[in-house]
Amino acid sequence: MKAKTSPPKQLRGGAPLWADSPRISVRHHTKLEPLTCEIVIVGAGISGAIAALMLTENGHDVVVLDRRAPVTGSTLASTAMIQYEIDTPLSELADKIGARKAERAYRRAFQGNVSLRKLAERHDIACALKDRDALLLAGNEMGARALHAEADYRARIGLPATFLNQADLRERFGFDRTGAILSSGNAELNPAQYAAGALRAAQALGARIYSPHDVKDIVASDKHVALRMTTGMAVIAQKVVFATGYETLPQIPKQKYDIVSTWAIATKPLPPDAFWPTRCLVWEASDPYLYMRATADNRIVVGGEDADVSSPEKRDAATGRKSQRLLAKLQKLLPGRDLKIDYAWSGAFADSPTGLPYLAPLDHMPNCFALLGCGGNGITFSAIAGELITAWAAGRRDPDADLFE
Ligand SMILES: Cc1cc2nc3c(=O)[nH]c(=O)nc-3n(C[C@H](O)[C@H](O)[C@H](O)COP(=O)(O)OP(=O)(O)OC[C@H]3O[C@@H](n4cnc5c(N)ncnc54)[C@H](O)[C@@H]3O)c2cc1C
Repeated sequence: MKAKTSPPKQLRGGAPLWADSPRISVRHHTKLEPLTCEIVIVGAGISGAIAALMLTENGHDVVVLDRRAPVTGSTLASTAMIQYEIDTPLSELADKIGARKAERAYRRAFQGNVSLRKLAERHDIACALKDRDALLLAGNEMGARALHAEADYRARIGLPATFLNQADLRERFGFDRTGAILSSGNAELNPAQYAAGALRAAQALGARIYSPHDVKDIVASDKHVALRMTTGMAVIAQKVVFATGYETLPQIPKQKYDIVSTWAIATKPLPPDAFWPTRCLVWEASDPYLYMRATADNRIVVGGEDADVSSPEKRDAATGRKSQRLLAKLQKLLPGRDLKIDYAWSGAFADSPTGLPYLAPLDHMPNCFALLGCGGNGITFSAIAGELITAWAAGRRDPDADLFE
C-alpha cells in the first residue's frame, strides 16, 4: 500500500503559555541518512514521546521523526487537565456503546492517568505534575439531578466520585451552582515539559530523534514499512506508529470525528488568596463549556468556547473575541478578583461522538498503528495508546484494544 501525506497544517495560533517554559527543547539529529530500524514513530508530541519511552523501556529500537521541532505541535497548546472523566458522561457513553464497554473505558482512563504519573516518576520527569481533584459543575447540559445520577453510577463501578449539592458546593468551594461532581484520580501538568522529558528519557534508553523531517510516502507490506521523506530519503522499519496528532494521512479512512477549534487564556500571576479551595480542576456540564485550572506559577488557565471552525485563519481571527468571552466567564465564576489576560491562544482539536479516540493497528496497512481523534482527554489517551502500542509491538493484544478500534 502506497500513499502520500497531507501538507503541514497550522495546528495552533496565538501565544501558548507553555512556549515560555524552561526544559522544553530536545536535542535531535537534523541530518538524516537512509536508515533501518525496528520501530519508527512519526510525531514528536506528547503521544509520540510517551510511545517512544514505553517502547524503549521494553527494549525496542526506536526512531522518532517529526516535520517540526520536537514538542511544537498541538502539545504546546494543551491546557493539560489530566482527567479520567471522558468528555462524554459515563451514563451517556453507556447508552452509546453499551454499559460494560463504557465502564471499561472509564476504568481504563483512570488507569491511564496512573500510568502517566508512574512513567513521570520512573524517569524523574520534572513537569509540575500534581494530583488534583476535579469538580464538574452543573450547567445547561447536565443539571443537579443528572449529575447526581452520574456520580452514583461512577461510584458504583468503583471510581472515586461524589455528588455535592448546592449548599455543599457553596460551602466547600464557593461556587454558586445547583450541584457538582467531585472526583479524585485527576492531575495537572506542563504538557511541553512532560513530552520533552519523556523524549529525553527515551533518548537515554537509545531512541534517536530526527527533525525537521517530513514523512511523505508510505509503502507498507507484511515484511516492513518504507517511509519516504520529502527529501527523497528512505527510512525502513519493521513497524511504524503514526502519532501525528490532528494531521492525518489521506489514505487512513476517516474515523468518526471532526476537527474543531478551541481557545484558551492564562491570566497574569495572582496572589494565593485569589484561588478557589484546593485548586482543583473545574469544568462545566455546559455547551459551549468552560474549564479552568491553576498553574505552578499562580496563574489561572481557562479554556473552552469550542466551535466548528476548521480554518486556522478564522480560528486566529476569533482569538481576541473568544479570549474576552473566556475572561468574562471566569470573572463571573470568581468575582472580585483582578484578572488580566497574559497569554491567549487557540488550537485544532478532535470532537468524536463518543469522546473516545481511535488507537489501533490499521487493517489495510500492515505493521502500522495510528492514534486518531484524541480530544479533551488527549493526554490520558496518549498514555493508554503507549500501552496498546507496547502490547502490539510485542505481538500481544491489550485486553481493552476493542474500545479504541
Ligand atoms: C487548546 C487545547 C487544549 C487542550 N486541553 C487538553 C486537556 O486539558 N487535557 C488533555 O488531556 N488534552 C487536551 N488537549 C488535547 C491534547 O493536547 C492533544 O491530544 C495532544 O497534545 C496531542 O498530542 P500529539 O502528540 O498526538 O500531537 P502533536 O503534539 O500535534 O504532535 C504530533 C506531531 O506529529 C508531527 N507530524 C504530523 N505529520 C507529520 C508528517 N507527515 N511527518 C513528520 N511529522 C509529522 C507534527 O509536526 C507534530 O509535531 C488540548 C488540545 C488543545 C489544542
